[in-house]
Amino acid sequence: MTTAVREVSVFGDGIAYFNEAADLLQLDAGMRQILTHPSRQIIFSIPFQRDTGEFEVFTGYRVQYNFARGPAKGGIRYHPGVTLDEVTALAFWMTWKCAVVDLPFGGGKGGVTCDPSTLSNNELERITRRYAAELVEVVGPDKDVPAPDVNTTPQVMAWFMDTYSMHTRQNCPGVVTGKPLEIGGSRGRVEATGRGVTICALDEMAQMGIAPESASVVIQGFGNVGMYAAKLFAERGCTVRGISDVTGAYYNKDGINIVEAMEHVGKHHNLAGFQGGDKISNAELLVSECDVLVPAALEKVLTAENASKVKAKLIVEGANGPTTPEAAKTFSDRGIVVIPDIMANAGGVTVSYFEWVQDRMGYFWKEAEVNERLEDVLLTNIHEVRRIKVQYNTTLRTAAYMLAIDRVVKALTLRGIYA
Ligand code: GLU
Repeated sequence: MTTAVREVSVFGDGIAYFNEAADLLQLDAGMRQILTHPSRQIIFSIPFQRDTGEFEVFTGYRVQYNFARGPAKGGIRYHPGVTLDEVTALAFWMTWKCAVVDLPFGGGKGGVTCDPSTLSNNELERITRRYAAELVEVVGPDKDVPAPDVNTTPQVMAWFMDTYSMHTRQNCPGVVTGKPLEIGGSRGRVEATGRGVTICALDEMAQMGIAPESASVVIQGFGNVGMYAAKLFAERGCTVRGISDVTGAYYNKDGINIVEAMEHVGKHHNLAGFQGGDKISNAELLVSECDVLVPAALEKVLTAENASKVKAKLIVEGANGPTTPEAAKTFSDRGIVVIPDIMANAGGVTVSYFEWVQDRMGYFWKEAEVNERLEDVLLTNIHEVRRIKVQYNTTLRTAAYMLAIDRVVKALTLRGIYA
């Protein structure tokens, strides 16, 4: 049921988008009820010992939103802002993301409410192992397959995989994706989300008549998604004018040197002190002059307050849920094209799928093969989304939800409701 409380939450944003597509699909009330409820929400305590010897307790979550098309799939987030509402929204979006690119997965997401910047490597390992141990019975290659998300790395996935493997007395690489290459990771996985963002963006830019060589791009967030998107945009000849992270935003009209920015982050862990652009605020960056804007950090950054000031012609959602429904309405009224999160950032989970397949075969592909298959999956499905957008005279977001919901409903209807 959609409630007033949900409407102001992150999950509420997701429900609002879902309802628009469900209306156009003329989805019946029963199916709407089923699809707006998570299958399973798990909350647990993670007691752990600080390096100083003191004990502390964090809260862990795993939401398995939907299993109609396959095992639950989705990342694990370590962040102070993690709540049940947020994890549920992210698991909800994973359901549609996997469906819109036609992967044989349902949707899931996990998280721990913590601030990893205050944790040592050993503390991070203890928290991760306890998190994994709490979930041993409900995850697995055919049950639920976690992956990296905000602040979780291939190393964190390695600890998760090892803990699960120890508990189940087997070597089980397919329980988690985004692992290091040496223990069953896939070539191309680290760059995959950023690569997917640029594949979707360049395809839409071609539709809009924006040549890459004359295009200016601004990217909010310089983590795993924003960083590789910036690098690939620059390699395709675009001018990346602005980048940002928690330390602030850096703007250079003539283009930021992305390789230098990446080296800076490699050395200093963030962009603080980066000299390759003028320092501005994150809020200024979002409304700065550019053709393409890529929010690639957290939810709700494009809102009723700033949407009317955004200057980009195209917004590509590298983050999950960066645009509120109010902002989305403003963009649509202003003719600003938005490639929605469930399509724009699906490159990551697509290569996660390839990793899962390779783990099950025990046979690993060359990077060129991964990248070629990724491009094929994304372009095939974005073209289908565009066809639906034209047919229903709607936005790319609503069209993407329509395609995804239709696929999930078909699977659910064939399987039937076990009541
Ligand atoms: N956390 C990523 C996302 O939001 C990747 C999920 C995955 O690979 O399972 O799409």
